[in-house]
Amino acid sequence: MNEKTLRVEKIKNGTVIDHIVAGRGAEVLRALKGIEGRTVILAVNVSSTRMGKKDVLRIEDKYLAPPEYSHVALVSPDATIVTIRDFEVMKKEKADLPKSLKGIAKCNNPACVSNREPDVASEFSVIEKRPARLKCLYCEQEMRV
Ligand SMILES: [Zn+2]
Repeated sequence: MNEKTLRVEKIKNGTVIDHIVAGRGAEVLRALKGIEGRTVILAVNVSSTRMGKKDVLRIEDKYLAPPEYSHVALVSPDATIVTIRDFEVMKKEKADLPKSLKGIAKCNNPACVSNREPDVASEFSVIEKRPARLKCLYCEQEMRV
């Protein structure tokens, strides 16, 4: 499969996530919701002129919701998210981490209120994007992703 085939051919509706850091494609897939029953193709260690090696994920009949863009960015900053409708590329965006993340990722500190109280959603400020470094707003624990 060449790069063009992977990206658009034979996908009528859905999402292609390109330029994933090599080896992290499965992790990106796990971060997404509503994959059950969808046709998913994960290509690992694909040659890339820009990155050397990369992973590419193709999911039919699924479009990413805004929180999922953050999930993807968390696992693989700079991934390209391509939205395809009726065989046409409708949108092509870079996964970019927002300044803060709510309800995404889990604090490393078991004693943190976000882990102990089911009603408290985790909340982090993003200190660094590449690689991602987060700081919990409740317990101030820093973590790398
Ligand atoms: Zn915490």
